[in-house]
Amino acid sequence: AETVLELDDLTVRFHLRRGDLTAVDGASFSIERGQTFGLVGESGSGKSVTAKAIMRLIPAPPGEIPRGRVLFEGSNILDKSDAEMRALRGRRIAMVFQEPMSALNPVFTVCDQISDALRTNLGLSKKEARERVVELLSLVGIPSPQKRLDSYVHEFSGGMRQRVMLAMALSCNPNFLIADEPTTALDVTIQATILELITGMIERLGMSLLFITHNLGVVAHACDRVGVMYASHIVELGDKREIFARPQHPYTVGLLNSIPRLDGQAKYLTPIAGSVCNMMDPPTGCKFHPRCSHAMDVCRREIPRLKEIAPGHLAACHLHDRGTA
Ligand code: SF4
Ligand code: MG
Repeated sequence: AETVLELDDLTVRFHLRRGDLTAVDGASFSIERGQTFGLVGESGSGKSVTAKAIMRLIPAPPGEIPRGRVLFEGSNILDKSDAEMRALRGRRIAMVFQEPMSALNPVFTVCDQISDALRTNLGLSKKEARERVVELLSLVGIPSPQKRLDSYVHEFSGGMRQRVMLAMALSCNPNFLIADEPTTALDVTIQATILELITGMIERLGMSLLFITHNLGVVAHACDRVGVMYASHIVELGDKREIFARPQHPYTVGLLNSIPRLDGQAKYLTPIAGSVCNMMDPPTGCKFHPRCSHAMDVCRREIPRLKEIAPGHLAACHLHDRGTA
C-alpha cells in the first residue's frame, strides 16, 4: 500500500522559562492510504504536539524541531514554505481539534464558517458554497441542515458542534484527517456515534486518519494500526489486533487493564500505578520505570529503543533484550 504520512525521528522541544521540555522524542511511524492510525497515551505524553508538528503548527519560539522529518506524500512538511503549508492545510490535510469552541468562531453562522474555506480554497460562489454546506452538514448527520445553516455555534449541542467541526474539516476534500481527542468533552454514547461517523467517512471518502486519544478502548473500534505513546516516546507500535492480543510493553498492558468502557458501566478496572511522568524532569533510562513492576537496573540507565518483536509489531522495552517477555 501507498504511504501517505511518514514520521521519521520527529523530535519537538520547547524552550520554556522553567527549562527545556522535549515533548516528542524520536517518533517514527507511518500511515498508509485508507488506513486509520490510533495514537494513544495519557495527556501530556506528546500526542497533540505530534499532531501540531504534522500540521506545522508548533510556534517557534518557544518550540523547535531539532531532528526528524514529516513526510507527507513523499515530501518533507518541515521544509515547506508558509505559503505551501497554507495550500496544504485544509485542502490536503485537515484537523478536527480537541475543543470545538476553540476552533469555531461564535460570531459567524455555521454556513459562514464553512463556506469561508470553500470560497477561498475552492473558489466557489456564495450560492455554490451554501449548497455545498448543506451537503456537508447532511453528510455528518445534522438533521434538517437547510434550517441549521444560519444558526450560530452556541445554538448547537456538544455532539452537534463536533459534527459541524467535522463538516468544516471535510469541506475541501482533504485526503488526510487528524482528529485530536474529538470526543473527550462529550458524553460516552455521543463519543461512540461521532467515532463511527468519522471512521465511516474515512472509508467512504478513501481518506487516511490519524486518531488521537487517551482511551485505548476507543481505538479498539476505530483503528487499523496503533501507536502507544508514553512521556514523549512511542513505546509500542503494531496492528490493532496484535496490540490487543499480544501487548509487548508493560505500559500498553496497563492501558489495556484500565480501559474505561464506552457503555459507561465500569470505570477503571486497574489503574496504572504511580503518577504521570513530570516532563520537565523526566526519569533517566526508560521513562516508565518508576511505574513499572518489571523494572530492572538497566531500565534506570538506558532508554530502550523501539525494536521489532514480530513482523510489523515494535516495542521499546528492555524485557525484549533478554528474550524474557
Ligand atoms: Fe519496564 Fe524496563 Fe520495560 Fe521500561 S524498559 S517498560 S522499566 S521493563
Ligand atoms: Mg492532547
